[in-house]
Amino acid sequence: MREDNFHPETRVIRTRYASTDAREHSVPLFLTSSFCYPDAETMRAVFADEQEAYIYSRFSNPNVDEFVQRMCALEEAEDGFATASGMSAVFASVMAFLKQGDHLLSSAAIFGSTHTLFAKYLPKWGIGYDEFDIRHPEQIERLIRPQTRMIFLETPSNPGLDIIDIERAAEIAHAHGILLNVDNCFATPVLQKPLLHGADLVVHSATKWIDGQGRVLGGVVLGKKALIQEIYLLCRTMGPSLSPFNAWMLSRSLETLHLRMQQHSANALELARRLQAHPALKEVRYPFLETHPHYAIARKQMKAGGGIVCFELKGGLAQGRRFLDALRMLSLTANLGDTRSIASHPASTTHAKLTEEERLAVGITPGLIRISVGLEHVDDIYADIEQALQKSAD
Ligand SMILES: *Cc1c(COP(=O)(O)O)cnc(C)c1O
Repeated sequence: MREDNFHPETRVIRTRYASTDAREHSVPLFLTSSFCYPDAETMRAVFADEQEAYIYSRFSNPNVDEFVQRMCALEEAEDGFATASGMSAVFASVMAFLKQGDHLLSSAAIFGSTHTLFAKYLPKWGIGYDEFDIRHPEQIERLIRPQTRMIFLETPSNPGLDIIDIERAAEIAHAHGILLNVDNCFATPVLQKPLLHGADLVVHSATKWIDGQGRVLGGVVLGKKALIQEIYLLCRTMGPSLSPFNAWMLSRSLETLHLRMQQHSANALELARRLQAHPALKEVRYPFLETHPHYAIARKQMKAGGGIVCFELKGGLAQGRRFLDALRMLSLTANLGDTRSIASHPASTTHAKLTEEERLAVGITPGLIRISVGLEHVDDIYADIEQALQKSAD
């Protein structure tokens, strides 16, 4: 069987991208900032792009290549570039294509730092920025200007779990000659492949489900070769490269991503179903619950609902804080996508700096709790949430 015919699960485990002459069974760590040449002529040819070889780890490195190639196999992408964090991936995927006078259009419900980057910094550099409310997708066409170069989406969104129809967004973008860029962090390529639905670029924070154990930061942008070349040229100059060590960790993590996402999703769906029946809760949100407002779109473009479940406490902001205090097992931390379940209360933490009105506009209600469902037994996760709900109710 040729390697091209392997399923993505097999390719991500079996295809060798980096090794020494010893042919190690597990890929070693290439902790080196630069690479040597046997003679002056080889070195000249490599620097002249006449011969392919590693030069310097700010440009490329065997471990980083391995991670990128494995991500390409999973996303079914032609090429990719890995970065030191998800935010540097978002930054590079936008700045490689936009210049002064251009315009970016994004869904409003996006990761907090992505929002700050777009709303605060782009205008400072003369780049126009608008957001559309995904509850009114007809706004997309209305907000497109002749200067619009890119549409940016996050689906499912963090933390509100809004789902956007990628295929429909791609049709609109391409009818106007605009690039579609999708943050696929919450779904991972195991559950959703935006490029196959028409997106031009996919960005990830590898810090979350891809690492899956809350150890290292990383990011990656994937897409057609010509687009990734632009990102590569910007990044090799700007320098947000992924470290070989983090790349090596992330490549090992990818070997189990399929198994982990299946189990995270199974635990999350079961938890969401049990919480739906709970009298202390106003609303339970999960993409694969029939009651989710975009359930049909989620079923169309995702294989499973992912590991995040949100619910709304009847007691609002005050109960949100009491709920976190009452938890015994779940971790209180900013990360998500970990083997350990995590609870967060966006209104009093990650989104506390926004006004109440701004929070409501992106679906963050006062009593919204976000659970990143881990790999513990679902009965233990539910039991901890259940006792904290009871304790925080009065
Ligand atoms: C965390 C996150 C990011 C940013 O990634 P970092 O690795 O923290 O820089 C971007 N998008 C989404 C949806 C995220 O959850």
